[in-house]
Amino acid sequence: MQSADDKTKRYRSFGSYLRETFGCRVQKIGLDAGFSCPNRDGTSGTGGCTYCDNAGFSHHTSADAPPPPLEKQLAHGMKHMARRFKAKKFIAYFQAFTGTHAHTEALRRTYQVIRDFPEIVGLFIATRPDCVGEQVLELIASYRRDYLTWLELGLQSANDTTLRRINRGHTVENFSRAVERAHERSLPVCAHVILGLPGERREEMLATADFLAGCGVESVKLHCLHVMEGTRLARQWRDGKLELLDQREYAGLVCDFLERLPPEVIIGRLAVDVRGKNLLGPRWCGRGKQDTVRMIELEFERRGSRQGSLLG
Ligand code: SF4
Repeated sequence: MQSADDKTKRYRSFGSYLRETFGCRVQKIGLDAGFSCPNRDGTSGTGGCTYCDNAGFSHHTSADAPPPPLEKQLAHGMKHMARRFKAKKFIAYFQAFTGTHAHTEALRRTYQVIRDFPEIVGLFIATRPDCVGEQVLELIASYRRDYLTWLELGLQSANDTTLRRINRGHTVENFSRAVERAHERSLPVCAHVILGLPGERREEMLATADFLAGCGVESVKLHCLHVMEGTRLARQWRDGKLELLDQREYAGLVCDFLERLPPEVIIGRLAVDVRGKNLLGPRWCGRGKQDTVRMIELEFERRGSRQGSLLG
């Protein structure tokens, strides 16, 4: 089922994909299963990504206390989404930190919680490309029988120099291999990308779009680099070593990026809402993402282009 709004959009939105798949409004519920991250606990690195803001993952995440039980998070999330959006179906989204960073049996027990909620129709798991072993992929793929099941992989940039600069702790090759292994199990992949990373020029950002088009990922999520208090990036920003994108520049880059992606790739996100007083910059990231999304749509209209335009 496509709405009129879907037909006029110049990119394939996640909302329209869900409506086509389920024929109704479906909302994602962000969950914190209490996992850590291999780039923080020494498994693949220490210190974490320079921009990492723990509290930003979900409102359940706090440095001071363990997250509430998953059952409680799900029940609360469904009630909230049903009231706000009149949603009747939901996707459980293991979002916080690294959603596969535990032994396979522990992961099995964790993901299993969704079986208690018949309203849940999807399982989305966000993780790192260096944290998806064979058994973990088998486990996740086993949910495909009953749920819409996706793997979300953080790439951020397809440039290894940038990945080192932001202390990602994995390589572009790690990402390519993880996508191949997910696809061997028919698991669709959503790649997370940040535009405006330190030291990246426009050409490097757009090379990431070309790389993702070549990888055959099924979805891409974009957001603009923003600086949060308490991160390593905050120090660089205070030292004047970091240039941040302005809103119009970001909107133009997003259009450039999407013009390079095949039209069937689902665009899971164009911008984020950064809440709270810890945002240091750019300030426009704290003013609500709708404004940015509108600017991107207007820029597409001005150019007369759309997702995939440059692919001929
Ligand atoms: S991989 Fe994610 S959770 Fe881990 S340090 Fe980087 S941003 Fe933070």
